[in-house]
Amino acid sequence: MTDPAAAPPPGIGELRVLMPDVVWFRAPLPMTIGHVNIYLVRDGRGWVMVDAGFGDAEALDFWERMVTGPLADFSIHAILVTHAHIDHVGGAGWLCRRLGAELWMGREEYLIARLDHTDAGQVGREDQQRHLLDMGLDRATARGIADFKVAELAGLTTLPDVYRPLIPNRSLILGQRRFRILSAPGHSPAQIMLHDREGGLLLAADQVMDGVAAPMTILPGEPGLESYDLYLDSLDRLERDISTDTLVLAGHHAPFRGIGAAIGKIRRHHALRAEMVLAAVADRPLTVAQVMDAVIRPGLNPRQCHFAIGEMLAYAHHLVGQGRARWRREDGIRRLSAT
Ligand SMILES: [Zn+2]
Repeated sequence: MTDPAAAPPPGIGELRVLMPDVVWFRAPLPMTIGHVNIYLVRDGRGWVMVDAGFGDAEALDFWERMVTGPLADFSIHAILVTHAHIDHVGGAGWLCRRLGAELWMGREEYLIARLDHTDAGQVGREDQQRHLLDMGLDRATARGIADFKVAELAGLTTLPDVYRPLIPNRSLILGQRRFRILSAPGHSPAQIMLHDREGGLLLAADQVMDGVAAPMTILPGEPGLESYDLYLDSLDRLERDISTDTLVLAGHHAPFRGIGAAIGKIRRHHALRAEMVLAAVADRPLTVAQVMDAVIRPGLNPRQCHFAIGEMLAYAHHLVGQGRARWRREDGIRRLSAT
């Protein structure tokens, strides 16, 4: 077996045996990144599938081909979903029903996905639209973000009412492996990771990927969340807890070893971005939307805008917390300025 951290990634839907009890494949995504990694972990009952990709009509065609083709001989009895983002949870409900499998999820992420499903239009509500206007977006862009959220949630299949909650810091025994369930904020409120210390394996979801920083997100209903600070805290904990020879299986991109170097790269990326935000408001106060135009570029589409506003806001909260920037409100408009 070649070193999984060295081999090129498999094509979409092609199974790659990483270890006798761990299999990796990729599911297609309609977003730029084009793929999400799915893992199968063997236990005494069969196999547990980690993450479920997208769940729109095209994705469900893919899943149908997989369950009648390459996955036909795997007896998958549980779908473990790491977090409530559409590229990980979208197909889960459909797969649970199709395979007769249980759903395993962290409680917060399960409830968020349920809320998203039953209330897809929440970001279009008056108070959440007001928040987006408060960030300095124009009305059309704020509406565009609401429309994008509704359209995206068409890829979320209905989750079962009954699920197994994964409780942070408890053990999850799968076959010979004893995983510790980790939960971390930043990319999503309580993303689940699985760490097998003895076996040198971390299923890291999107928290730490190979040389790529996943966006920090802020839920539309929680604009004050200091997600950058929470994310930094979680990276500190991971750096302390996970040994450097651990094989990291992430939600996107390739398996890798050397989590310390990957975390260092992510920290530098965000630190640089935060300094760019501060530099943008050094001479004049700017709205978060203006900061976004200055630090990233003007003319982002609603999807990019949704993520970028959350990220700029996370940096802003961080800089305000450090006392290097402050909020000011003039003429009813909220702006950030350097102190
Ligand atoms: Zn993802």
